[in-house]
Amino acid sequence: MTIALTGATGHLGTLVLQELLTTTSAGEVVAIARNAAKAEPLAELGVQVRVADYDDPQTLPAALDGVDRLLLISGSEVGRRVAQHAAVIDAAQAAGVGFVAYTSLLGIEDTINPLEPEHAATEAYLRGSGLPFALLRNGWYNENYTPVVQQAAATGAIVGSAGQGRTASAARADYAAAAAIVLAGPGHAGAVYELSGDTAWTGDDLAALVAQHSGRPVAYENVTPAEHERILIEAGVPEQGAGFAVAIDAAVARGDLGAVNGRLSGLIGRPATPIEQLVAEALA
Ligand code: NDP
Repeated sequence: MTIALTGATGHLGTLVLQELLTTTSAGEVVAIARNAAKAEPLAELGVQVRVADYDDPQTLPAALDGVDRLLLISGSEVGRRVAQHAAVIDAAQAAGVGFVAYTSLLGIEDTINPLEPEHAATEAYLRGSGLPFALLRNGWYNENYTPVVQQAAATGAIVGSAGQGRTASAARADYAAAAAIVLAGPGHAGAVYELSGDTAWTGDDLAALVAQHSGRPVAYENVTPAEHERILIEAGVPEQGAGFAVAIDAAVARGDLGAVNGRLSGLIGRPATPIEQLVAEALA
């Protein structure tokens, strides 16, 4: 059996590869990357490295040749991803790939998260392809908060507009372990996994953890979305990025990223990594 993943040079892909190699021999693994130089260390693991770019569909057939099971890690270029993902799905279909797992978004069926449209369109395209598939609807990574935690420890404040909304985040490594299990194991065709951490925390909770680990008072300052956007722009965040951050907080305020259902820890057979571990590591 040949198992492949895209985005193999990314943060998540690197961790999936590590997990995969604990159960699967390197000779059966294909790491697909767009940047050959960046992928060089992967070849040292004994896996086959193939270079392909979502934006260059001609590169995809060779990358997927002989692949039985594929993990399509969603791309990082927001706004361009539907066409990119569709190109991979088309190529997987043409190559006779037998199963495609896709990293989607937690709570996608009822969310105002601005990332929803691209993931929903990709899910629909994958379903429409007729390929056996699994959806890994990932919640937020703990690692998204490393800069927030470090800044909070320096300034004593976390500014946001998420109110008392909760985030059930988990470590990237947890989502990677789940992806490797679904990619390599049987019985996941048609599965839709809503994956999130074991506890959901508020901005107040995060501030309290930063205070505890930094030894200085830290508060969560909840502001209106308009005020939040103004503060971000004044701090130098480009307008589009500020609008995006505020829209994400609106989704968090609504509870869209706060689902705790035990699916992630159930899949990986251990508790998900708590946000406190990220706080401790970010401040170490
Ligand atoms: P990274 O940005 O580290 O990885 C994205 C990977 O996609 C990289 O390997 C990148 O290649 C590859 N890629 C991007 N564009 C193309 C392309 N045109 N052709 C081929 N490969 C491409 O993100 P993470 O690993 O941290 O996360 C994986 C995905 O999860 C993200 O891409 C994003 O869709 C989503 N995400 C989820 C978050 C969450 O909290 N759940 C947070 C952030 C992102 P290269 O290494 O050459 O850049």
